[in-house]
Amino acid sequence: MSDTEPPESAASSLRTPIVAVLGHVDHGKTSLLDKVRGSAVIEGEAGAITQHIGATAVPLDVISGIAGDLVDPDDFDLPGLLFIDTPGHHSFTTLRSRGGALADIAILVVDVNDGFQPQTEEAIEILAQSQTPFIVAANKVDTVPGWNAEENAPIQKSLERQSDRVRGDVDEKLYEIIGQLSDKGFSADMYWRVQDFQNNVGVVPVSAMTGEGVPDLLTVMMGLSQRYMKEEMAIDVSGPGVGTVLEVKEEKGFGSTIDVVLYDGVVEEDDTIVVGSSGDPIVTDVRALLKPRPLAEIRTESRFEKVDRLKAASGIKIAAPDLDRAMSGAPVRVVRDREIDEVVEEVQAELADIAVDAEEQGLVVKADTLGSLEAMANALGEAEIPIVRAEVGDVAPRDVSVASTAEDSLHEAILAFNVDVLSDARKQAESDDVRIFQSDVIYRLIEEYEEFVEEREQAQQ
Ligand code: GDP
Repeated sequence: MSDTEPPESAASSLRTPIVAVLGHVDHGKTSLLDKVRGSAVIEGEAGAITQHIGATAVPLDVISGIAGDLVDPDDFDLPGLLFIDTPGHHSFTTLRSRGGALADIAILVVDVNDGFQPQTEEAIEILAQSQTPFIVAANKVDTVPGWNAEENAPIQKSLERQSDRVRGDVDEKLYEIIGQLSDKGFSADMYWRVQDFQNNVGVVPVSAMTGEGVPDLLTVMMGLSQRYMKEEMAIDVSGPGVGTVLEVKEEKGFGSTIDVVLYDGVVEEDDTIVVGSSGDPIVTDVRALLKPRPLAEIRTESRFEKVDRLKAASGIKIAAPDLDRAMSGAPVRVVRDREIDEVVEEVQAELADIAVDAEEQGLVVKADTLGSLEAMANALGEAEIPIVRAEVGDVAPRDVSVASTAEDSLHEAILAFNVDVLSDARKQAESDDVRIFQSDVIYRLIEEYEEFVEEREQAQQ
């Protein structure tokens, strides 16, 4: 058995809630994750946090150590929190509304000085659509004039005391964020005034730089999970694994691999798995289950260590034949004792749900994950912009060919979200007069496309 598994106890049938961190670029997502990891390492012994592929597990006792008297381990029976390491990853949105979950809860990071920005808005829309409970980390409080670390910190030790401690400019900025959340239809307040985190969004002032507020953030996340997630976290620990593809990668010595967040059940070496792709689902056998080797053990050999079995919730790399066709954001299911056809149908049904309704005429849309593609399709739908083809992956020459044969010159365009443009495709686009718009902000892509439409319409007059 692998040491990445939580100990077998009464509580082991409750899996770890999965946390995604979202927000606008530069608002501090990576720094916040680093701070959480760093605090956990300082608080616990070596090995306090378990490094997964694409995720970091922080166990309950470590959270309790960081949060002090706010989190009494006896009051909790969830094993801790699993943080997805790729901040802003859109694929987490893909499955939640369909019964599964890549992320159970989310932290929306907002720079207090910068407020809501396009990617904040996008994240909020995605959270609302997927009905993912979230809290707001109002980050960088250390930079606000009037913030006095001496006076305001440690803000975490007493929830009651908190209310008189934040003041001046910080207060004003926090209320601005609360106002913006209200404009979006959320009932939001400072976290120490929120009683019911299921229906209300709590705003937690934090600094990913100094660590102020991080204990509060963990306390609220843990409390929220314990209160509202417990039933969802009860899983069949021995059931066949269910997960979502984060990334598809070629790995030296292992061939094509997928990084997967396993949110239910167990996956074992030699299991047959079904994985979503842009074509028919891939049916293949697990050749190796890989987890990161501890830093100290990395020598010349592989960065990975093999395990023969892994239980949710965890992040794992799966090596198997034919995985190069797998798609980020697509479902992964272990077959085990069931009929392969039945599982293939399930995966197909999940993908069909996500699949974008293509029209006969419209734009070509490419994105990095299924989740992003879905978010793009929703945004384009609202803007009444039709889609002719929507796929996960880099912009390739065949995408340009599709765009260049559009009947309407306003459709001779490709929207590329968070993906590269292959150089052949770039050349072909130039010679075919196809415009490629590339961005990691959906709203910016739409704006740029609308400008292009205006330009072409004016040119036609
Ligand atoms: P991301 O793009 O959302 O992942 O943002 P990063 O974590 O990369 O942070 C962007 C920049 O803001 C970096 O230069 C960080 O050092 C800085 N930063 C992040 N959090 C804080 C904070 O709490 N206080 C201050 N002063 N700077 C911060």
